[in-house]
Amino acid sequence: MSTVSTANGGISFWYAEEGTPAPREPLPGDSSADVCIVGGGYTGLWTAYYLKKAVPFLNITVLEAKFCGYGASGRNGGWLYNGIAGRDRYAELHGHDAAVRLQRAMNDTVGEVIRVAGEENIDADIHHGGVLEVAHTPSQLARLKDFHSVEIAFGETDRVLRGARETAERIRVSGAVGSSWTPHGARLHPAKLVKGLADTVAALGVTIHESTPVTEIRPKHAVTPYGTVRAPYVLRCTEGFTAGLKGHRRTWLPMNSSMIVTEPLTESLWATIGWDGRETLGDTAHAYMYAQRTADDRIALGGRGIPYRYGSATDNDGRTQPATIEALRDLLVRFFPTTAGTRIDHAWSGVLGVPRDWCATVTLDRSTGLGWAGGYVGSGVATANLAARTLRDLIQQDSGQAGPTDLTALPWVNHKVRRWEPEPFRWLGVHALYAAYRTADRRESASTHLGTDRLAKVANRVSGRH
Ligand SMILES: Cc1cc2nc3c(=O)[nH]c(=O)nc-3n(C[C@H](O)[C@H](O)[C@H](O)COP(=O)(O)OP(=O)(O)OC[C@H]3O[C@@H](n4cnc5c(N)ncnc54)[C@H](O)[C@@H]3O)c2cc1C
Repeated sequence: MSTVSTANGGISFWYAEEGTPAPREPLPGDSSADVCIVGGGYTGLWTAYYLKKAVPFLNITVLEAKFCGYGASGRNGGWLYNGIAGRDRYAELHGHDAAVRLQRAMNDTVGEVIRVAGEENIDADIHHGGVLEVAHTPSQLARLKDFHSVEIAFGETDRVLRGARETAERIRVSGAVGSSWTPHGARLHPAKLVKGLADTVAALGVTIHESTPVTEIRPKHAVTPYGTVRAPYVLRCTEGFTAGLKGHRRTWLPMNSSMIVTEPLTESLWATIGWDGRETLGDTAHAYMYAQRTADDRIALGGRGIPYRYGSATDNDGRTQPATIEALRDLLVRFFPTTAGTRIDHAWSGVLGVPRDWCATVTLDRSTGLGWAGGYVGSGVATANLAARTLRDLIQQDSGQAGPTDLTALPWVNHKVRRWEPEPFRWLGVHALYAAYRTADRRESASTHLGTDRLAKVANRVSGRH
């Protein structure tokens, strides 16, 4: 099978059929607002949504560098699920019960996104089939079982562990020796969700300016080449692009993730694979993969390509290196050998934000009115919604309209983290980390040993990941 006919970049496959949305007007000049939101992805748009719903007279402006959904929100794997980066660290810092509250809030968030999408008539191809994570090697199986027990300890009593045969009854992943399934996940079409959200908040009266890059955020100011928006609250919702803002080069590292999508598979091919439940599918490798069966019966599959570009460089409209496309295609065929002759229609990449301690955060600095949310490390589709409701509550509390809430008391609120190392250490560190993970995955595949490879443990410790 060749990838010569594969479309490459163009933001993502998710825009290939429907096209990118019609552009909205840039900022016409200096202006003011009650809340200025920088970045029109899920975080910025959900925040605008919940604030406007809570206080309809609020004057909210969203400033977006390109178009709403240009970033990871229009490119991701469409796993709406309950994972949150940093939960175990928050358990260490704030105690187990606090982390359980955070996990419960994430479990509820999956339903919240589905509820609002329904209420606002956003058709995002949502299918609530849960998340199935498979193991391929003895080490992965041991890790999967540990992971399964830990999730149950954090209150997920509805999680199910499946053996090889039961796993194959759901999805016939070649060589899978077991899996863990949770109902707290759904498959969706990322770009349909972000476009629907942008249209919904615009209809509610939120002002959105596109093609308007913010160059600097200062207390009460968002500065752009076309003028400055003055607002008591300025919220930074730029996730993987944060390094592009003045003073933020080392705040969050822009990590790359790449995806491919097949042509629609025939019914006879699907009969060899199963996957009737349309669960989102992942594995337990160190350099893990994620996949979904799309509404039009393709397989969209993602994983780590080139993890990081020197100097926190971010984007080229999703163009992906041929070697990464080949590696993802090989992974697809390893999972589903009957797809060996299947065409790969599209490949693309995007960036996500990684804090130095790999913990997602949501913050409102009450002394400056500056807020931010992100650092979701690849688990942002649901987390952005929880972050947005939390930012709403923090602003309402700060402006005296409401008191503290269950959300403002969650342990990821106002968490502080140190910055990344300067270059070249940042580049060397991340490339060494992923080289170590790939070696560990190879060694685990060749071994009957049950434990996690030592190299991966060292890499986790050195990187600050666990
Ligand atoms: C390939 C890929 C697959 C993924 N798969 C999943 C998944 O399956 N499940 C999951 O939970 N998570 C996944 N993620 C992560 C998830 O998509 C993100 O965490 C989430 O979309 C982040 O939303 P956001 O609004 O914070 O950031 P983004 O969607 O990146 O939005 C930020 C926006 O800010 C704009 N912007 C940036 N800088 C400026 C500026 N200076 N001025 C104005 N605007 C600016 C950008 O143009 C962009 O539109 C994936 C990410 C990638 C890249």
